Amino acid sequence: MLEVINPATEGVLERLEPATAEDADAAVALAKAAFPKWRAVEPADRSRLLHRLADALESEKEHLAQLESQNVGKPISAARGEMGMVVDTFRYYAGAPERLLGDTIPVTGGVNMTFREALGVVALIVPWNFPLTIASWKLAPALVAGNTVVLKPAELTPLTAMEFGRIALEAGIPEGVVNVVVGPGSAVGRRLTEHPDVAKVAFTGSTEVGKGIMAGAAGTIKRVTLELGGKSANVVFADADLERAAASAPDGVFDNAGQDCCARSRILVERSVFDEFLSLMEPAVKGFRVGNPLDKDTQMGPLVSAGHREKVASYVPEDAPVAIRGSVPDGKGYWFPPTVLAPVSHDDRVATEEIFGPVAVVIPFEDEADAIRLANDTVYGLSGSIWTENAARALRVARRIETGVLSVNSNTSVRVATPFGGFKQSGVGRELGPHALDYYTELKSVYVATEEG
Ligand code: NAD
Repeated sequence: MLEVINPATEGVLERLEPATAEDADAAVALAKAAFPKWRAVEPADRSRLLHRLADALESEKEHLAQLESQNVGKPISAARGEMGMVVDTFRYYAGAPERLLGDTIPVTGGVNMTFREALGVVALIVPWNFPLTIASWKLAPALVAGNTVVLKPAELTPLTAMEFGRIALEAGIPEGVVNVVVGPGSAVGRRLTEHPDVAKVAFTGSTEVGKGIMAGAAGTIKRVTLELGGKSANVVFADADLERAAASAPDGVFDNAGQDCCARSRILVERSVFDEFLSLMEPAVKGFRVGNPLDKDTQMGPLVSAGHREKVASYVPEDAPVAIRGSVPDGKGYWFPPTVLAPVSHDDRVATEEIFGPVAVVIPFEDEADAIRLANDTVYGLSGSIWTENAARALRVARRIETGVLSVNSNTSVRVATPFGGFKQSGVGRELGPHALDYYTELKSVYVATEEG
């Protein structure tokens, strides 16, 4: 029996019979059977259905936010924001069926045109940190393009995905188009990855599991998009608005209790302002409000599970160079305090591995070239920030940092209308924005001979 736990109380939210590999097969069969009809739905009708789904999600936003907050342990204010993004994502893509445009290409002897066509059955495998949000980044473009889907949420956090299945049916999405299978990655996820009737796997999760997905998909030459781990840099130059940068840095790491692939967990600070920056950061770290996720003022909840807390704690042994530490509530819950380690060497384990918890390292750099070198000295390349008042430097450095998403004087990464994804071992492909649709369609080229003879 799968027990779904509230990490803030350690209480059981729900008990479920986990799905097996055979259940995954059955879900793929349903999705395969539904595909020809769903693909044939007229674009304007598919668009209307997706708008209806967005409306239905909007009307259940608060319910979904409460569920997500309790299941992940994330602050309710954050969960509400995320459910807003889920709705926005469906609205953004809902108009796309009529905008899947092709090209006409001048060629000798005839006319050539291109079409964007659905792939078939797409498996969506998602992690526990932003369960429904990340699912929506895959669901919306997959469905508008005419694919049918099998969604596999993480075993720790399946509740909003299950609700999504119900809401989609109630909104009129035909049976078999959206299938949700709750079960272990090693059985269900793996079977979906290797299944001959699955055309594509869209995966978000750890780089280690991502490597296995890529290998498993190779047997049937599946399309894959992978959104994987990160160890992003927050680069603070001496000419930055230091107060703003320091006040924002904690949120850039401790948001979602650091369980964020975009966490700017390596804070690189120009040596001349290193000490000043740390002291400016201190009140923001100590004042970070950690506590009951359902309290609207809470900024950080617990970690997602006891096992994950153990993993995070292994990075902060007794003798770790803790420069600043926040506080946590007493009693039940998988709490871990906001923690800043400094000084830390850039090749130390805490500075190279993704901790996925509220732990930041602060590392000094000498000059611009050194900052770029350190920022790029990682196998990852997902996100990052640059803080400077010099616009030319901001753009120059932004072009040289090897990462998929960068912000200048901000620590935000994700917008519905802009592409999101990683360089290097942070992933393959892009989500969100118009580009995501390329990853849920095949490009077909059709030539029509128009000249006689
Ligand atoms: P995970 O890789 O352990 O699991 C992700 C999903 O894969 C889960 O649904 C899991 O059940 C499934 N899975 C596990 N083993 C599998 C297998 N052998 N075959 C198929 N599926 C399998 O990741 P997690 O612990 O749930 O999430 C944390 C990780 O996700 C972090 O590394 C984080 O950086 C990454 N992440 C990346 C992004 C991004 O967009 N780049 C976003 C969020 C999280």
